[in-house]
Amino acid sequence: MELGVLCPRSQALMQSDGILARGHAGVLLAERRGSYPLIDLRILNSKSPIYSLWSVKRQLSFQRYCHASRLLRGQVPRGPGSLHLLDHHYLGQATHMLSKVGTWNFDIFLFERLTNGYSLVTLMCHLLNVYGLIQHFHLDMVKLLRFLGMVQDDYHSHNPYHNALHAADVTQAMYCYLKESKLAELLSPTDVFLGLLAAAAHDVDHPGVNQPFLIKTGHHLASLYQNTSVLESHHWRSTVGMLRESGLLSHLPLCMRQDIEQQLGSLILATDISRQNEFLSTFREHLNHQSLDLHQAPHRHFILQIALKCADVCNPCREWNLSRQWSERVCEEFYRQGDIEKKFALEVSPLCNQQEDSVPSIQIGFISHIVEPLFEEWCRFTEPSPLSHTMMDLLQQNKTCWMGASGWGGGSWSDGSVFVQTNLCGCMHGPGGLCGATRRVRG
Ligand SMILES: [Zn+2]
Repeated sequence: MELGVLCPRSQALMQSDGILARGHAGVLLAERRGSYPLIDLRILNSKSPIYSLWSVKRQLSFQRYCHASRLLRGQVPRGPGSLHLLDHHYLGQATHMLSKVGTWNFDIFLFERLTNGYSLVTLMCHLLNVYGLIQHFHLDMVKLLRFLGMVQDDYHSHNPYHNALHAADVTQAMYCYLKESKLAELLSPTDVFLGLLAAAAHDVDHPGVNQPFLIKTGHHLASLYQNTSVLESHHWRSTVGMLRESGLLSHLPLCMRQDIEQQLGSLILATDISRQNEFLSTFREHLNHQSLDLHQAPHRHFILQIALKCADVCNPCREWNLSRQWSERVCEEFYRQGDIEKKFALEVSPLCNQQEDSVPSIQIGFISHIVEPLFEEWCRFTEPSPLSHTMMDLLQQNKTCWMGASGWGGGSWSDGSVFVQTNLCGCMHGPGGLCGATRRVRG
């Protein structure tokens, strides 16, 4: 579906910050979402050869294909409607947790359990309500729940890392960043709405494998997006498809809808890790010359991009107990890709070989090359910020901890205590693994 010419405001935004990746300029396409039952029933009922099983596989990607297979097996997918089955006791605890949603040690894993797997929908409803955005944009609650239910459903629950819980975690981090004193006062309701929406949907329908895998296996999305920001483009266009299908914004003027869709795209595309240096050098330049003026919409948009990038990779800045779980999950996803590559005699991608790439070594590299450089600049930007200092402290502690787990032997925490490496195990990665790999011993 093609929207046609963009409104002048969107064009101005796109030109001023160079947001759009190659191949996206000019028109905005929404990927058709394989929403059941519409598409699936049409496929099941059609006698046309065009809807052969082969074409189902080719036309529906990832989660859509899973939904189709569930229907073929006679299983009805879960929906937001099952929320009312929750025990009041758990709902009460979840509500209590929401009162502390702006704290950095928010335990999203616990929140996920208390909301019966609906942390993303519950969190988004709460945050939109806290900011008064439901009233501000005159959002229809039924449409909103439908849209959020679609987003949650299109995340793959069997992915160890890129699932709805990761999206909820990124959304909670984004909320913490939007509250930073440098930003909070100057953000418009549209900025906040876009920031939260982009965080919630930034990895939707992620297949659990990376872009090089899609390219080398000739996946149709790779050719659709010309091997450039393939996954991010898919997350964005899928989100646009869900926005349109749910009719969430259908009451807003066309120009405003197009602007929101376009800005969502530039935020989600900014999470492409291969564009890290591009964003980082622009950010550094701005900070060195003190040239950021948050009264200007394009500058606020740029900071939203950086905030989303930070939220997306903030796992190593969380407390060890949370951070470690994310590390194990992401590495498990890498290893699964490596196993598929081995099975089909493909070259195993970097970081995906469980025999050669240990969790600590992956984490140390990730922290050193991606997380530290980004958060050092974010810390400069948000100064003075207690949260940024907490994150930098935790980042150093966690890095030291991984160095200990990788055989470095020991080290010291920022508070002066020292730790020694223990070889307790029982974790999924075998001897020398992570569970209890380090133990704090006061020095
Ligand atoms: Zn992500």
